[in-house]
Amino acid sequence: MNKSILRQESNQYFIEDVKLNDIAQKFGTPAYVYSKKNILDQINFLQSALSDIDHLICFAVKANSNLSILKIFKESDCGFDIVSGGELQRVLTVDSSNSKIVFSGVGKTVSEIEMALNNNILAFNVESEEELIRINNISKRLSKTAKISIRVNPNVDAKTHPYISTGLKDNKFGIDETNAISLYKKAAALEHIKITGIDCHIGSQLTDLSPFEDAFIKLASLIDELESNQISIEHIDIGGGIGISYNNEEISPIDFYVQMIKKHLLKYNKKIILEPGRFLIGKAGLMLTNVEFIKKSDHKNFVIVDAAMNDLMRPSLYNAFHEVINLSNSKESNDSFDIVGPICETGDFLAKERYMHANQGDILAIMDVGAYGFSMSSNYNTRPRIPEIMVDQDNFYLIRERENFSDLIAHEEKLLERS
Ligand SMILES: *Cc1c(COP(=O)(O)O)cnc(C)c1O
Repeated sequence: MNKSILRQESNQYFIEDVKLNDIAQKFGTPAYVYSKKNILDQINFLQSALSDIDHLICFAVKANSNLSILKIFKESDCGFDIVSGGELQRVLTVDSSNSKIVFSGVGKTVSEIEMALNNNILAFNVESEEELIRINNISKRLSKTAKISIRVNPNVDAKTHPYISTGLKDNKFGIDETNAISLYKKAAALEHIKITGIDCHIGSQLTDLSPFEDAFIKLASLIDELESNQISIEHIDIGGGIGISYNNEEISPIDFYVQMIKKHLLKYNKKIILEPGRFLIGKAGLMLTNVEFIKKSDHKNFVIVDAAMNDLMRPSLYNAFHEVINLSNSKESNDSFDIVGPICETGDFLAKERYMHANQGDILAIMDVGAYGFSMSSNYNTRPRIPEIMVDQDNFYLIRERENFSDLIAHEEKLLERS
């Protein structure tokens, strides 16, 4: 699974049965383009790998929160992992009575907790004692009972980029494994709290999945301890983090992951909740961008494109690698280029030192941007956010319009006269 969505056929590039040139012509560049089939295949692939396990896949909304994409997950019987009130509202917009929502994050505000309680979410993944108290107080005021898991920090090294590694004891996430049981005991004594699970999420973009085993072993021993304290749970939430191949990295097979779940967690007979984001959507999207200029100097060549770090932040933020394909000229070349945007920051690059041919007017595809692509984009440099387009067999359609200038100034213009 997790193949490239791009298909080349007699000098033309396709996603499913649609020519990418047709999309660029109709909707312009830059633009995000997704394959519906790839998303569905990936969900089915994970669901069948887990078919022997009582499980619930809660798609991590922050990876890609487009409503039409959330709808695909909803129609595939997935739940959702949210990290903000805004994400909750997005999920409710596509599914007004969704009860398969888990709420993660270290800084849940009073109004976010109220909204989540009023919509009867499946569980709060509690990340601190103060949060637990806040949730209890609010549910008391609303005459509710909040269902909670405690997010345990198992102190394992996910061996991924430090910015997306979350399971080490120095991270801001979760409750240190050594304090988890005492917090569970406190939770058990709170009247408006119902303990329903245990949770952990050790990081993102794990290519070697073996750190999960360490986490599962720690979860198992905590569950044993909970049981010996007569604290019972209904589900075990093992978080997200399964990596994808951006640059031919070797990824552990998903069966390895499933076997680890079976070996360490199945004996408890609880529902296993997963929170994958990137694994389900990362390979399903690419970004089209137009070559504006070629700039050559003695020691460096630049391809200046119409997309930039505000449209795709991962290269600037994590030094992330995305494959770049020149759809207009895929011949091999000995010339190396940095692919950069027009933003006034040296950190504004999409790719470095790529061997390619490039001419003004060529269309490039930046690959594997379905996860943390659009969802991390901004309006920096007063650049309108770019459209998102879905390909479904031989059809393609907008799932988000290109923003325009009036969108950008809407919240300032009416205040001008006052200043
Ligand atoms: C970001 C995040 C995820 C999803 O991570 P992926 O690497 O995209 O699978 C899941 N759970 C939590 C708590 C997260 O913060």
